[in-house]
Amino acid sequence: MSWELIVGLETHIELSTNTKIFCQCTTEFGGKPNTHCCPVCIGLPGTLPKLNMNVVKYAVKAGLATNCNINNISKMDRKNYMYPDLPKAYQITQYDRPLCEGGYITLSSGKKINITRIHIEEDAGKLVHEKGNIFIDYNRGGIPLIEVVSEPDIRSIDEALEYIENLRLIMKYIGVSDVKMQEGSLRCDVNISVRKVGEKEFGTRTEIKNMNSLNFISKAIDYEFKRQIKILEDGGEINQETRKYNSDLKITESMRGKEDVDDYRYFRDPDLVTILISDGEIDRIKHELPELPHVKFQRFIKDYNLPYADVELLIKYKKVAEYFEEACKNVGNNKMVANFMLGQIFRYLSTEEEKDNCNIPIPPYYLNELIKLIEKKKITYNMAKNTLEKMLETGESVKNIISEKDMVIIDEGALKILCEKALLENNEAVKSYLNGKEKALKSIIGYIMKETNGKADAKLASKIIKKLLAGIN
Ligand SMILES: [Zn+2]
Repeated sequence: MSWELIVGLETHIELSTNTKIFCQCTTEFGGKPNTHCCPVCIGLPGTLPKLNMNVVKYAVKAGLATNCNINNISKMDRKNYMYPDLPKAYQITQYDRPLCEGGYITLSSGKKINITRIHIEEDAGKLVHEKGNIFIDYNRGGIPLIEVVSEPDIRSIDEALEYIENLRLIMKYIGVSDVKMQEGSLRCDVNISVRKVGEKEFGTRTEIKNMNSLNFISKAIDYEFKRQIKILEDGGEINQETRKYNSDLKITESMRGKEDVDDYRYFRDPDLVTILISDGEIDRIKHELPELPHVKFQRFIKDYNLPYADVELLIKYKKVAEYFEEACKNVGNNKMVANFMLGQIFRYLSTEEEKDNCNIPIPPYYLNELIKLIEKKKITYNMAKNTLEKMLETGESVKNIISEKDMVIIDEGALKILCEKALLENNEAVKSYLNGKEKALKSIIGYIMKETNGKADAKLASKIIKKLLAGIN
């Protein structure tokens, strides 16, 4: 009998507010250790936290964008535990009255992964292990987080990864986080259990803490799935525990027995007042939301009639998608715009960050002009490609790169004469072609392109030459 994988995810996302959740310290990543700190965020006695209302606003945005209900009344609680990354010995978080509840994210299959809740909390400091010593950097302490808790609805590694990627893209679109996994601004705790296919009850679960790479998440789930099945098939029992992924050995290892909720002795933080949000305020935030990625995806498919794969790549970067729309204005061939964007321009924007920021040195209407010149048959596709290359290098417009008189495509009659000449001048290539070496055609076309400074239509030239050679044969 086969086994079924059950996964639920707790995703911690750092919010990109300017200041921390309970003090005025900067949230900027990095910096010298312990320089983004003050008495409040290092938890000195006698200090008082004051809730940053932008954190609430960002979290409400995140809730609305993932179809959650927003609670008009919520509050902050203390979660007590002793660990050096948390000098107060408690974390301020939300326990039984979170800000958002009952949302979902839809996967490409149409399946909904339900979201139990989204709450706000403070991040802890970071332990740095160096040369046998442990140092503590509190710069991260007090950075605002949302924790997005999913239901155990995920049944495969692919679903887990798609859920995270969708969540990540939504947060990026609504601008509440930079969601850089490598910098830890999106981290997942993965809850895993297994059960026999057809069973209703969930098995005992383990939790793999603090994963910030999709690759590791995928490997950790795979390892843990097999580990649990082996224990059960050997007649053993799964320990409810917290584990961590060891990326060197590619295994999960036990960290500690899983704490029960009771162990944390949650209670309301007496230093912080109740959070009240009116329906009017929620509506106002709703109206500020941009078009969300899945809506844009459907619209692009409908409006631009492009393949799914192209649209997926274009909408992955919000600013790139906006650039594409500008470049498409009054163009007949949207697919050609997409090809230029996903080909040459994406090669130019080599890093994810450059794509995120859409660091294209020319404005979209330059690309629009270029495409229209191809459509008006003033330049060839190849000429456009070369011109775009120069535009990306220099930031100049089409007209500064090709002059009016160069914008003339060699007509078919002239091209035919040129092709005849090319065959006479390239005896060797002609012989090879006639002996079955198709590749030889390329050097003949190359000759024509050189003679015309690239103004010949290469496809048409190839057609004419094939015809001429067929005649000789
Ligand atoms: Zn501070």
